[in-house]
Amino acid sequence: MSDCIFCKIAEGEIPSNKVYEDERILCFHDLEPQAPVHVLIIPKKHIESMDDVGVEDQDLLGYIMIKVKDIAKELGLENGYRLVNNCGEDGFQTVKHIHFHLLGKRKLTWPPG
Ligand code: AMP
Ligand code: ZN
Repeated sequence: MSDCIFCKIAEGEIPSNKVYEDERILCFHDLEPQAPVHVLIIPKKHIESMDDVGVEDQDLLGYIMIKVKDIAKELGLENGYRLVNNCGEDGFQTVKHIHFHLLGKRKLTWPPG
């Protein structure tokens, strides 16, 4: 999508601090980290939110899920981490391109705000 900031990051039009990239997904550091390690994992395909995931995306979403542990290991999150998806207005989703926050290197509290 032409006006999507994460599509632009995926296409290299906007720079990002990349952690991992392959043909289907990208992981980069969040601009406003909420933990010592805070990265975002996105599919390169534009999907607006969890509400917009279709049957045709199950392989892609499954692929992200199996990559999480590899990225976490690469970032030294051997003591655990949190994977977060914000969806829609009440979920406080600010960027309308599906993404998963991976946070770690501090004791995270529950419930989240
Ligand atoms: P969410 O509120 O779940 O939609 O999360 C969007 C996240 O994207 C926020 O944590 C922002 O700090 C982050 N963000 C926005 N623009 C950029 C950018 N250009 N590079 C890295 N992170 C970004
Ligand atoms: Zn997009």
